[in-house]
Parts: sequence; structure tokens; C-alpha cells
Amino acid sequence: MNPFVRQVLPISLAAATAVLAGSWAGGLLAQFLVLGTVTAALALTWGTAGILNLGHSVTFGVGAYAGAWFGLHAGAYGSLAGLAAGALLGGVMARLIAAVGLRRRLDAVGFALATFVVALAAEQVANRWTPVTGGFNGLTDIPRFHVGALAFTATAARGVTAGLSVLVILLLASLARRPYGAALAAIRDNERRMAALGYDVGAAKSGAFTFTGVVAGLMGAVYVLQVQFVSPGLIGLAMGTNFVVWAMLGSRRTIWGPVVATLVVNAGANQLAGAALDYWLLVTGAAFIAAVVLVPDGVAVMVRRGLPTRWFRARQVVLGVAAPSTDSLAGGGLVVRSVGCRFGPFTALRGVDLDLIEPGVHCLIGPNGAGKSTLLDVLSGFTSATGGSWQLNGQDVTGRPPWELTRSGLGRKFQAPSVAGSLTLAENLAMARWGRTHRTLALIRRRWTAELPPEAWFVLDAAGFADRMDTPAASLSHGAQQMLELAMTLTANCTVLLLDEPTAGMTRTETQQIAEVLRGLVRDHGLTVLVVEHDMAFIRSVADRVTVLRGGEIMASGTVAEIESNSEVSAVYVGRAAGDRP
Ligand code: ADP
Ligand code: MG
Repeated sequence: MNPFVRQVLPISLAAATAVLAGSWAGGLLAQFLVLGTVTAALALTWGTAGILNLGHSVTFGVGAYAGAWFGLHAGAYGSLAGLAAGALLGGVMARLIAAVGLRRRLDAVGFALATFVVALAAEQVANRWTPVTGGFNGLTDIPRFHVGALAFTATAARGVTAGLSVLVILLLASLARRPYGAALAAIRDNERRMAALGYDVGAAKSGAFTFTGVVAGLMGAVYVLQVQFVSPGLIGLAMGTNFVVWAMLGSRRTIWGPVVATLVVNAGANQLAGAALDYWLLVTGAAFIAAVVLVPDGVAVMVRRGLPTRWFRARQVVLGVAAPSTDSLAGGGLVVRSVGCRFGPFTALRGVDLDLIEPGVHCLIGPNGAGKSTLLDVLSGFTSATGGSWQLNGQDVTGRPPWELTRSGLGRKFQAPSVAGSLTLAENLAMARWGRTHRTLALIRRRWTAELPPEAWFVLDAAGFADRMDTPAASLSHGAQQMLELAMTLTANCTVLLLDEPTAGMTRTETQQIAEVLRGLVRDHGLTVLVVEHDMAFIRSVADRVTVLRGGEIMASGTVAEIESNSEVSAVYVGRAAGDRP
């Protein structure tokens, strides 16, 4: 269905109704549209980016107080100043919360709790800081929207309120549809993978969060210009919870669901207000619990599943073949010198040296707990080293974060298949391609096309993905997800590839396929590969060199034959037939 008919028309009709319906009903509808916009903004960070925010009301409320204060004190241009101040203060507030909560590696629950506390505190401040906020009673008689000497009628002011809401909702919907929204969804699905593809996930999350704060702050100011009244209830936890409930009921993973849910719930509450208000709260609570249990994805997603898919334009992702890369990375491989890593008193790695200079497959073996995964995590920036240094393609990259390492030519394939399950294969690959030049503006402007390097196509062809590009990655088998992740890693244009147990959980055939693919990557594409493995048959078929790690230290290094005839190594693996998994 035409996006205009599906999206623009209904919301414009709602806005027109708000303008034309007379001052009582129209005013309420305009007010609910503003709240719907704020809920939609919450959906962008919570549903799309996966950041649960119980204090969305704080940015909304700060904007509301800013709108009220400037409206009352800034004279002829008070309305405009209020809108600007609302957006600015909402953004600043969100930026501060993000700086504390998202940058300091709080986990999702820790961050949600932090926003809970901020909402509680904000309500206290609004209640106590009477000279500015009017305290418990709030601020009343805020002048209606005006610009200079031009005073708007009540109808025109509703037009401004409803019009701004519609514009912002359409903007949010557009952002969610674009590569920008898909990148946020991929970060929600798999943050580590996105970091390993070159995305600065911390900056992306805090950027999205700040933008949502700007929207909520702006709409807070719009709200008070419409209702001409502000009180601490707008900034507190109850309001923050409302936004979360409305978004959840509507479908936090869409923009339209939350808008509609906010309109319906508020209209319902209004109908039943007065005598039945207590029951209404009970009804909302019950509806929320029912939604969590019965339709955890929200009503909009449920409705959408029942409608023809052609109504919801599937993204056409066009994947091409990249010309031989012009920004080709200087060779030089990976050189590791006396890397150490401690977890508290426990030493996981001690004085590890590695030289991966020539193209080839280098296998890393060793008993469980030897520190193999830790070494890969350190080299790819996911765990901090406590000593040593390493060079990538001639550049000292010691201690760099994952996305910077990726941009310098390091590829990391995780042990568990690690893809964005809610995105299609093609979308995953496009995301992988854009990671190396991750810029927010570019993601907003970008079209759904991406050029993949030949080595990625080599893997995609080997896996036979050609006719499955539009299926969600979550529907692939374990082995196929491993292949997709490998193709994504190569799409980011790496020269040195680190793989952690790529054959774990794979069938014999799939294992052979991986072995052939790795040999092909070395032979035809000049890659340097470090692979952690247990399977001796696999190692014999791929390895140019083998290094044995034990107790965090390198015990031996040589060709397969040399390692297999090393009596010390055999002693470590004693009692295990070759080919067994320890
Ligand atoms: P391998 O991959 O060789 O089986 P790992 O690198 O996963 O071994 O682990 C090496 C040792 O470091 C193990 O003893 C493990 O318990 C320990 N270890 C790994 N990660 C951590 C961590 N985040 N905190 C504490 N100890 C860890
Ligand atoms: Mg491991």
C-alpha cells in the first residue's frame, strides 16, 4: 500500500480533526497527539535501540517547564523561545543521562534503574523549586502560542500543536525505516557484533538517546503551549511509566503503534474520567499485564501479522560487487608482543607472542581454559590487556576499541553465531558494509544499497545464500548463521581474520565447507587467518602453522607435523584420540 495512504493520510486526518473539532474535543485530541509523539520517540530508543527508559518524562517535563517559563517571561517571542529552550534542555538532559548511564557500561537493567531514580528526583525538584516551577501547584495561565504581535486564535494554535506533532511523528517513522533505524535495531539484537563491524555502539546509543530527548523536550514545550498549564506530574515517574505502558501496548518496535495506543488510551481515560477514574487506572494496568502476557510485541505487530505483507513495503536491499578497494589496507599482518591479561588475581594470559605476517591459516589450540578466547577478545578490543602490545598492518593498535580495530583491518568472528536476527541476510550484509564508515548522517541519508567485496561474495556463494537474501537471519540454521557472520566479517574489509571455534556445533559437511572456505580466502584473497580449533582432522586440513596455548602461555609453535610429534604437547592431550574434541 502506498506509504502516503498508509501513514500520512490517517495522521493528517487526526490532526485536521483536532483543529476542526471545536475547542474542547479538539484541544484534547491535540494534547493526546503531542503525548503520542513523545511515546513514539520513546519507541525509537526502547523498541528500536533496546534502551529501556523509565525517565522519558524527565526530558518531556524539562521541556514543558522551559516552555512554560519562557512563555510567561519572554514576552512577544516567548512561545518560540520556549520551543527552542525545550528542545535544547531536553537534549542536554538526555545527553547527561546517557553520559552517566550509557557510556559507563551500565547494563540494560542498571540503566533502566538509573532513569527510574532520575524521574523520582526530577519530580522532587519540580515540587520544591517553587520560584521557578511553581512548586506543587505548577504554573498556570501560560500564554497561548504567539509570534511577536501575531496572536493565534485557539483554532490556529491547535493547528500549530497538531501540525508539529504530525511532522515529528513522520520524521521518527522515516528514521526508523532508514538504515539508521536498522542499525539501531542491529545494535539491540547484537551489540558486540556491531562493535566488531566498526560501529561505535556507545556513541550510536547515546546519540539516539539524546535525539529522543530533544524530541521529548520540544514536545513538552508544545504541550504546555496547548494546555497552558504545567505541574510536577508531567516530569515524574508516573508519567514516565505511562509512556512505557503506552509504547508497550502499541508495539514498541513500531512508531505508529505507540501513537495510536496513546490516542486510544487517553481518549478512553478521558471518557471514563471523574467517577470511574480509579477503575480506569485498574483497566490500564490490567490491559498492560494482558498485553505483556498475550501480545508481548504489542498490538500493532499483532495486527500487522494479520494483514497482507504487501501493505508493508519490504525493503529492497540491492547488493553489488565492490570494485577493488581503493582504500586498501597496507599489508603487514598481526604482530603480537608479550601480551598479558589478568582477571583480578587470576592470570589468563602471560607474555604471549604471535607473528601472523604471511597470508595463511594459523591455528591456535590448547586445553579448555587455556586462554584462547581471552586472547582473541584482547586482540579485538573486547577485553583490556594488562601488558604487551600488538601491531596491525604496521600500525600500533594496542588497547584500541573494537570499532577502531575493525577499521584498521581486523575481522572478528565470534564463537556463537552472532548476527542481527531481526534483520534479513541482505540487511545484515549492508550493515556490515556501512560499519567501516559509520557516520550517523550517512546512515540517515543512505539508500538501501551496498557493495560487498569479492571475498564476502565468495563465502555467500559457497553457502548458497543467493535466493535467501530476504529472509530474517534468525530463521537460518546454526551453520548457516556462522557462514553469514563470516561473510559479514569479510564485508567489513579485513586483512586479518580472527575466528573462535568456527566448527563448533557444525555437521561434518559444514566443517569441510568451512575448511574449504578458509583455504580459498587465503589462496585467492590473501587473508591472514587465526583460528581457535579443537578438531585435529580440521586442523590438518587447513593449518599452515599451529600454536599451542596452555595456562595462558605459549607452549609450542610449528607446522602440524611438528606439533603432532611434539612429546610435550602429546602429554597435554594424553588419552585423546586425534580428531576428538577435548
Ligand atoms: P579457552 O577459550 O582457551 O577455553 P578462555 O580464554 O575462555 O579459555 O578462559 C581462560 C581462563 O580465563 C579461564 O580460566 C576462564 O575462567 C578465565 N576467564 C575468562 N574470561 C574471564 C572473565 N571475564 N573474568 C574472569 N575470568 C575469566
Ligand atoms: Mg574458548
